[in-house]
Amino acid sequence: MPAIATLETALSALPGGYLLLDENHLVRFATARFYQLLHCEPLQCGQALPSGLLPAEMLPALLAGQAHASQQLYTGQLLDWLLTPLPDGTMLSIREDRQTFRNLIENSPDIISRYNPQLVCLYANSALGRYSPIPPALHVGLGIEERGLPAHVCDAFRHASSQVLASGKPVIFENQLNHHDKHYVFESRLFPETDEHGQVQSLLCIDRDISEEHAMRLWQADENRLLEMIANDRPMKEVMVWTCHMIESQIEGSMCSIMLLDDDGIHLHVATGPSLPDEYKAQIDGIAIGPGVGSCGTAAFTGEAVIVTDIQQHPYWADYSALASSHQLHSCWSYPIKSHDGRVLGTFAIYFSHPSTPDNHSEYITLRTSHLMAIAIQQERRASQLFQLATQDSLTGLYNRRHFMTLAEEACDHTLVHPKPLCMLMFDLDHFKQVNDRYGHAAGDDALRSFARILQDSLRAQDLVCRMGGEEFAALLTDTSAEDAMTAAQRICNLVAQTPVLSHGQSIPLTVSIGLASCVPGQALGDMMRQADKALYEAKNAGRNRVHVAQCP
Ligand code: GH3
Ligand code: MG
Ligand code: MG
Repeated sequence: MPAIATLETALSALPGGYLLLDENHLVRFATARFYQLLHCEPLQCGQALPSGLLPAEMLPALLAGQAHASQQLYTGQLLDWLLTPLPDGTMLSIREDRQTFRNLIENSPDIISRYNPQLVCLYANSALGRYSPIPPALHVGLGIEERGLPAHVCDAFRHASSQVLASGKPVIFENQLNHHDKHYVFESRLFPETDEHGQVQSLLCIDRDISEEHAMRLWQADENRLLEMIANDRPMKEVMVWTCHMIESQIEGSMCSIMLLDDDGIHLHVATGPSLPDEYKAQIDGIAIGPGVGSCGTAAFTGEAVIVTDIQQHPYWADYSALASSHQLHSCWSYPIKSHDGRVLGTFAIYFSHPSTPDNHSEYITLRTSHLMAIAIQQERRASQLFQLATQDSLTGLYNRRHFMTLAEEACDHTLVHPKPLCMLMFDLDHFKQVNDRYGHAAGDDALRSFARILQDSLRAQDLVCRMGGEEFAALLTDTSAEDAMTAAQRICNLVAQTPVLSHGQSIPLTVSIGLASCVPGQALGDMMRQADKALYEAKNAGRNRVHVAQCP
């Protein structure tokens, strides 16, 4: 024991920290400096080593009784560990490696700085220069308010430092600031640095730039929302406007547009561009794509992204640079929106009123957005094709019977709430069997199409027109009196009789018989249709090529 006591005194006088373990690896003794360097609570003689105290890679050497050296970055200090086997135990020593530590700190991508308890800057590494208008060396000696930092950053720092000074424990907090048109987010860690009496002498701060992770977190939330909108079949216009706003909030100073390529594969139309000037959108609407037709025209033509940082200097914009400059548009990145089989569907473009090139994050999110837009557009087209197949008559393009009945029921129900006159017209082409027999089935089809066109041209967009089947058609005229319906029916009847169908060089005369019924508010659709049918039957019996009105029940 006297030997240990002498050793204790000798080790305590050395600049490093020392820990002695007995042959069972239990604590025998540690110097005050050891506790200081590791910021740990005093250890009891005979206690086991707390887990995590030693760098993990030293444990096998300790158990094997072998010498080992290791370095560890520990709460802002670089510590040198040395494990030395003794005849009756182990000696562990630690000391700070100041030179290597300084190199590490100087070259760290994190901002590392030190402050006195009054928050006067004592040191700042070179990383600070990337985010501050003032060079790092000039921060030294300045108080927190004198360093050109935004007020909210000063407040967050003061708040965190008062917590550290009060508790003696490290604090982690988040900080955001703008510098050179970029938005930065930092995760800041503030550590107390204590003297041998445990008094906080200074604060060490490590700020890590987590802007990309932060932007990615925000992006993922937005992307999920967009996918949800697409999956829920939100209207295309809404999806596109939302997408533009989403990217504009992600990329500082950006203005987005989505253009769609016509079925002709030549003309681009502005689908949306909520933040672009209306006049600019009107000017570029309908442009023919081609090489050198601005960023979008070229991107749609080549199927490749076109990044133009300076519109005024770029050959692709030669014909449009005056237009762009009159709207203060200085750069434009355009990405083609492509279908799964590589067809260009349109373009997704981002404009800026200053020269701008995409960074990794911007490029990633714009490419993802173009991809998601492609999915949305294709999904919407598929859905509208399916809807057409389900609701349209394939020969004439009019509504089919089923869809007509659904809409007509709704219109009838509507009269219960808003009593407005409704009229039903039933049409049956006269002697149509003979048309087929005399001119052929194809000519009969032409006649059906020709009659459908006459119906559509003669009635208003608000009227419901359908092919019930065969050579029978129906129309529900909304908000129309019996007199007006009679006028319309008579006009159609005359027009059909006066317009022979032209089919494969033949001129085919055609007439139609029409039954008209008007609806008493609240009357069932079936009732009205039966009456119109009855009137049609009468028109046939009375000699065809005429309109008959059903008598009120
Ligand atoms: P009516 O004046 O009494 O109405 O005599 P109609 O010959 O028009 O009446 P009918 O019901 O006997 O014949 C209807 C004809 O319409 C029979 C059928 O071949 C023809 N038709 C039905 N659907 C189509 C079609 O899609 N295309 C063609 N070309 N003909 C059709
Ligand atoms: Mg018939
Ligand atoms: Mg007929």
